[in-house]
Amino acid sequence: MATWMTRSPVLDVATQARTQGIYPYFKDVNGRPGPSQVVVDGTRAVDFASSDYLGLATDPRVTRAAADGAAQWGTSCSGSQCIAGTFSVHRELEEELADFLRRDAVLLTATGYQANLALACLFDQSHLVLADRHNHASLMDAVRLGRAGLRSFRHNDTAHAVRLLEEGATAAGLIPLIVTEGAFSLGGAPAPLPLLAAAAHHRRGALIVDGAHDIGVYGAGGRGMAEHLACEAEVDVLTGTFSKAIGSVGGFIAGPHDVIATLRHLGRASVYAAALPPPAAAAALAALRIVRSEPERRETLWRNAEHLHRRLAGGQTLSAGVPTPRATTAAGQAGPVATVPVPSGPEAMHIWRALLDAGVYAALFLPPSTPDGPLLRLSVTASHTTSQIEDLTALVHQVLSSPTRV
Ligand code: PMP
Repeated sequence: MATWMTRSPVLDVATQARTQGIYPYFKDVNGRPGPSQVVVDGTRAVDFASSDYLGLATDPRVTRAAADGAAQWGTSCSGSQCIAGTFSVHRELEEELADFLRRDAVLLTATGYQANLALACLFDQSHLVLADRHNHASLMDAVRLGRAGLRSFRHNDTAHAVRLLEEGATAAGLIPLIVTEGAFSLGGAPAPLPLLAAAAHHRRGALIVDGAHDIGVYGAGGRGMAEHLACEAEVDVLTGTFSKAIGSVGGFIAGPHDVIATLRHLGRASVYAAALPPPAAAAALAALRIVRSEPERRETLWRNAEHLHRRLAGGQTLSAGVPTPRATTAAGQAGPVATVPVPSGPEAMHIWRALLDAGVYAALFLPPSTPDGPLLRLSVTASHTTSQIEDLTALVHQVLSSPTRV
C-alpha cells in the first residue's frame, strides 16, 4: 500500500470479491473463437457484454483493413493529429464520415472519451450547459473542464430541462447548450432530441448529442437516433465512437466547419494526445463502408433485439418474480441493450458469476455508475443466433429466480 495514497473503500470490495471468485471486472479474455464468442478465464461463453452491435470487430474485411493499415502506415503516428499525425487514412475517414453523417466536417480522436472531453473548449462564461443526469462520464468531465456553469436535468425530462434553462440561462442572459446521449448507454432509452433541440434553439442555443450507442444502430441509414427521430438538422454537434457499432476504436466530433476548426486548434484532448492509430483508422473506414452498404446487418440486429426483449419481458421463459428488464424502446422498438435490475451487494456479483459459469458473459454495473442499484447489461448484436438469445433469456430467468444462487 502506497503510504501517500488515501485508500478507497472500492479496493476492499474488489479484494473481497476476488477472494470469493465473483469479481466481474478486468476479466482475462483468453480467446475469441467465433463471432459473439469469448473465452473468459478459460471458460467459453457467449458475449453479451460487448457493444460490437453489428459484429464488425471480427469481420475479416475489417481485420484485414487493420493489418493492411499497419503495414502501410505503421502502428502509431507517434504524435498528435495536429503535429505529426494526420495521415491520408485519417483525412479519408474524416471526409467519409462527414459525408455519411451529413455534416460539414469531422475531427477524429483516439477514443470516444476524448471526443467528448475535447468539447470542453466550446463551453465558456457566455453559456449554461444543461446535461441529462444519466450522461456518460466523458460528457460530465467535459463540462467540468469547461468554463460554463452546469445544470443537470432529470433523465430524459424535457420539462425539467426547460425549467432549469429558463431559471439559469434566460434569467442570466446565458446561451443554453443542451448535452445528451442519443440512445443511453445503460438501457438504451432514446433521448427526446426534437424537444431538446426546440428548447435550445428557442433561446439561440445548441444541442450536442453523443451518438456512441446509436450511430450505426438506429435509423434506416444507420446515422443514429437523430435520423431515427427525423431531426438530424436540429442536432448541432454530434460525437461518437468507433468502439461499438463501427468495430474499431477511436472517436469523432462532427459538426459545422467553424466548430470543428475550433476543436482542431483548442480541443486539448485532441491537440495534446496521440492521434488515432492508423490501423484503427483503416479498420474504422472499412467498417463504416459496411455500415453504409449492408443495412441487412441492422435488420438482423433489430430482429435479435426484439427477440431478446420479448423473451425477457413476458415471454414464456419468464415466470413471476423475475424483475422486468428496463426495456429499450424507441418509437415502439426494443433496442439492442437490455438492463435487468439485480439485488444490491455481493448478490449482484454472485448472479453475474452464475451466468458466466453457465456460459454467458454479461456486464454488471454497480453504484455509483447506477445510482438506483446494480444492473446487469445484456447487449445483443447482429452476430447472435436465435438459440443463443433463447439460452440467455432462459438462463437469466433461472438464475434470478433461484434462491440458492448465493
Ligand atoms: N460515450 C458513451 C455514451 C459511451 O458509452 C462511451 C463508452 N463507454 C463513450 C462515450 C466513450 O467511448 P470510447 O470507448 O470510444 O472511449
